[in-house]
Amino acid sequence: MKKRLFPVLLAALLLLGGCTPAPAGDEKLHILATTYPIYLLVTDLTTQTEDVTVDLLVNSQTSCLHDYTLTVEDMKAIEGADVIVMNGAGLEDFMSDALSQSSAAVIDCSRFVDLLPTLEHAGHDGHDHEEEWDPHYWMDAGWGLTVRNELRQALAEYVELTGPFVEYQLPDPASLLGGLSCPYLITFHDGFQYFAKECGLTLLKAIEEEEGSTASAREIKEITALIDQYHIPAIFVEKNGSRATAEVISRETGCGIYELDMLMSGGEGRFSAYLNALYANMETVREALK
Ligand SMILES: [Zn+2]
Repeated sequence: MKKRLFPVLLAALLLLGGCTPAPAGDEKLHILATTYPIYLLVTDLTTQTEDVTVDLLVNSQTSCLHDYTLTVEDMKAIEGADVIVMNGAGLEDFMSDALSQSSAAVIDCSRFVDLLPTLEHAGHDGHDHEEEWDPHYWMDAGWGLTVRNELRQALAEYVELTGPFVEYQLPDPASLLGGLSCPYLITFHDGFQYFAKECGLTLLKAIEEEEGSTASAREIKEITALIDQYHIPAIFVEKNGSRATAEVISRETGCGIYELDMLMSGGEGRFSAYLNALYANMETVREALK
């Protein structure tokens, strides 16, 4: 929409000849979604709206975005965006510099959600930190409907959305996960707080691993003790995440290792892909803890 090539630069490009600048008269609204779940929401809401392009910023095989580094391509995508729709709550800290230099409008979806405090700040650890919020709210399917409704209104400020508003059936965690013999989760990332809450499960422990290293001997001992104490049949790693510590613990306790999907990448551009992935996570938990 507001593709602003500086006149001088444009003239220079024309003089050089052969170099074609971005298509002139591009009247489309360029929306950039930062994460795959946000992308699925935006494509769903704009699928029948003309003159809108929707791009996904990060679609890499990563477990979660915390250590992501912007590529040159990403910078270009940010530069070319009219509206950036982001997850927020600190998940995209890796792009804060690029964002501060961008003239795009920003829709931060975390403001549509009741956020939970991050796990390490949830307890009474005796320290006096600033409150921090857990950004992994998309792992709760209920988020899908809340954010979808709010985002629809927020996007309407920039483009007239056309087409029917489809209602989706959300997964029912109670019917799928009720009556599990073991309602406890041990995970390898603190990204499952919302998921556990939605499913009525207790997140006993979320182990944060530094890239390329395993948890400390003390932590492994602590988890092994928990597994014995609560008779836990399986622990959960992330798809594309590290399995090193989990394998050490599995060898020691005989517990199984299962993978949960954080929905950081995917090939499908439909909102149903989001719901299907969350269903699949619930199925995985049921299979692992039944
Ligand atoms: Zn995360």
